[in-house]
Amino acid sequence: MKNTLPLFTALLLAPLASSHAAEAGQPATHFSTFAQATLHESPLLNRIKLAKQRGRSYPMDSLDFIMVDLERPETLTRHADFCTGDLTGRYLDLLATSAHLEPSDHDRMQALFTRILKCQAPNGAFGRVQVQDMGVSKDELAWAASSKVFMGLLRYYQETGDPKALTAARRNAEFFFANLDRIREASIQQKKPEDLHQWIRSAGGLGDVGNWITEPMAELFGITGDQRCLDVCRAVAEAQQSLKGRHSHGVMTTLRGLQLAAIYTGDTSWNKLPEQFRKEIAKEVAWADGSISELFPTSKRNEGCSIADWVMLNLYAGFISGEDEAYEKAENALWNALFLNQTVNGGFGHRDLESDHTYGGAVLSMECWFCCLHNAGLAMVEFADHALTLRGDELRINLLVPGRYQVPYKGTTIEVEVSTRYPEKADTTVVISGAPAEMKARIRIPSCIKGAEVKVTNLPGGKTRHVLSGRMGYQLEEVRNGVVLRYGPLVMAPLRYAQNVKVTNKDNDFLQGYVFERIDKGRATIVPPDKDADGFYLFPKEPKPIWKNYEEGTLSRLAFDNLSINVKLAYPDGTSQEHRFWPECYSTTSTASGAPVPVVFAKPEASK
Ligand SMILES: [Zn+2]
Repeated sequence: MKNTLPLFTALLLAPLASSHAAEAGQPATHFSTFAQATLHESPLLNRIKLAKQRGRSYPMDSLDFIMVDLERPETLTRHADFCTGDLTGRYLDLLATSAHLEPSDHDRMQALFTRILKCQAPNGAFGRVQVQDMGVSKDELAWAASSKVFMGLLRYYQETGDPKALTAARRNAEFFFANLDRIREASIQQKKPEDLHQWIRSAGGLGDVGNWITEPMAELFGITGDQRCLDVCRAVAEAQQSLKGRHSHGVMTTLRGLQLAAIYTGDTSWNKLPEQFRKEIAKEVAWADGSISELFPTSKRNEGCSIADWVMLNLYAGFISGEDEAYEKAENALWNALFLNQTVNGGFGHRDLESDHTYGGAVLSMECWFCCLHNAGLAMVEFADHALTLRGDELRINLLVPGRYQVPYKGTTIEVEVSTRYPEKADTTVVISGAPAEMKARIRIPSCIKGAEVKVTNLPGGKTRHVLSGRMGYQLEEVRNGVVLRYGPLVMAPLRYAQNVKVTNKDNDFLQGYVFERIDKGRATIVPPDKDADGFYLFPKEPKPIWKNYEEGTLSRLAFDNLSINVKLAYPDGTSQEHRFWPECYSTTSTASGAPVPVVFAKPEASK
């Protein structure tokens, strides 16, 4: 259960979007949790469960191991142990934020919180750092990363209502307030990619990671109304100049903090910079499937954290503006790049990028159990939280996520049941109970649905049933650097495409498809088959491959039924070959792909 807070956040929310809490005269918790959701069986829910399961698996099954970045025992070091409070804070944040959707780990969350509290110094900072290793002062190191603990405490407070968490967060904030001049000075530094590692080691300035102090500061403002929180956000915002060469996760989390400032103050001027950068990222940086490089604009790998931030940046943008375009971007990045990034053990991390249109062969080049797991987990939870929001007297169904939602509204609770297998099919039924007569309901219709219709029926007992119907199919979409093939919102890719792989089926007895054939003929073009009456391409589904890496069918917990297809690719030398294409979001179950995966193909004229 979310706890109610004795605060005025909700009133501040009202100018932008009406929250249930504001309507009911109750305090708000985290702004996005308008509806208490119980998710039904879906790939999203199963992926959230997988991520949480990964969070308690080796080596994180040991809280001693997790706590190293704060406790710094003499007897154990680990990856990123110098990132003060980073893993500890991220984990507390994820456990608290996801508790209402997936209530496992309650005892772990409490145990983690208890140990984190013990690591707060008298000046409010967190962590016991080994100063001699870093050659910097204790303060400098502590403030750079510890905002994740700060955020984790706030979300823990919102989940449990434990006043000890808010007290600790406020003491932590005092440490930052006392250093506002240093924050202002340090934020101005623009880091070059080659400086990043050095910066992380030295932690001498806030840089792109430290800047994300905006997130907990805005959240604390939302809870307490302390104007000094906004002073910190302003100092960071004024220092932002361009995206180039910067750490994408750092920058986008910073921007999300400024979005929170817009939401909690009701002052949209806070949203100017996030919108400017969001548009720039969409136009010039993000892949067609929502993938984001670790560094802006491009680098040799993406990062689960960055894709997750891109999902959330768009969710918040949609919340502020009410515009469909932002939700569409969030949906695209979640279903394609983010889900592609998750491995079968539930983890997230880095995926190598061969070019601006082709992923490297390995499913993940590095699993980041210390960051991506938690930020991606958050993005999935927030996606579900943003599925239903209120905007004035309008109930918005922004995202088609199957579940039962309870929406507090003007002292009553509206029940909403969403049944769907979207994005396998467009068909969605929404039953709303207990809504007052003046309330309107609006379902965002994804642009991939053709002939979309919403039929509303009044049912006995004041209920209404909204049935969305329409058709989805395979379409080619022209993008910045070529063409992508989609089924509905799902990007289709030859997940075992074998360009440059030096093995063949010749002279061996392997099953067909087990060893992929070498294809090294340049960038391919998709050969379009006939279209149906709706303009959807009729790619053949048969013959099915003998050897499959990805499961498919009605029993699959992460995939859908019968969406994979055979696609003919034409090469610049005039030859062509058929490949099995799968939705990118199927990739979790297999770590076997050793081949690069192109997701954007040449525009037809380029191949001639
Ligand atoms: Zn990460």
